[in-house]
Amino acid sequence: MSERKHKRLIDALIATKINGWSNVTRSGRVSAVNWYKDGEKVSSIRNYSPSSNIEQALEAAERVGEYEIAYFEADGENAAEFEVELYGKQKSSVCAGTLPMAISLAILEAQQISTNNYQSADDLLVKDTVPVDGDTHTHCLRCGRPLRSKKSQIRGYGPECARRERGL
Ligand SMILES: [Zn+2]
Repeated sequence: MSERKHKRLIDALIATKINGWSNVTRSGRVSAVNWYKDGEKVSSIRNYSPSSNIEQALEAAERVGEYEIAYFEADGENAAEFEVELYGKQKSSVCAGTLPMAISLAILEAQQISTNNYQSADDLLVKDTVPVDGDTHTHCLRCGRPLRSKKSQIRGYGPECARRERGL
């Protein structure tokens, strides 16, 4: 998995499993671009990235439990890194090159959430968030072309348009 894809998955796991958000609107429609809480929009998906945004990472950590942060300066052999310990369902201890990433990984480990169960953020949304009997779409919400795959019909966008809507 590319680093960018991996970060998106981490962000989506925190949005769904920690914050309790989904990509389903109040009318039951599935959105490729927004997060919702109880059907009300809380954020655009592209604006929520705790793996790179320190304020969002700290906010999510506070939902989980007490945490401690240490910083280790670079020496001859090792790059500088942040260590985060977080007490959730279990105590986690994680090191990473940036503080938001260290916090995000510590959150997932503390809550025993593994990224290995998912191929991508889209995979997570299809597997866990989209209701089986939810509305599906026959045509792309962006360009109007017919949607062929089940995944696109659930999402409401073809693969290209889903990428563009997310600003990738
Ligand atoms: Zn389209």
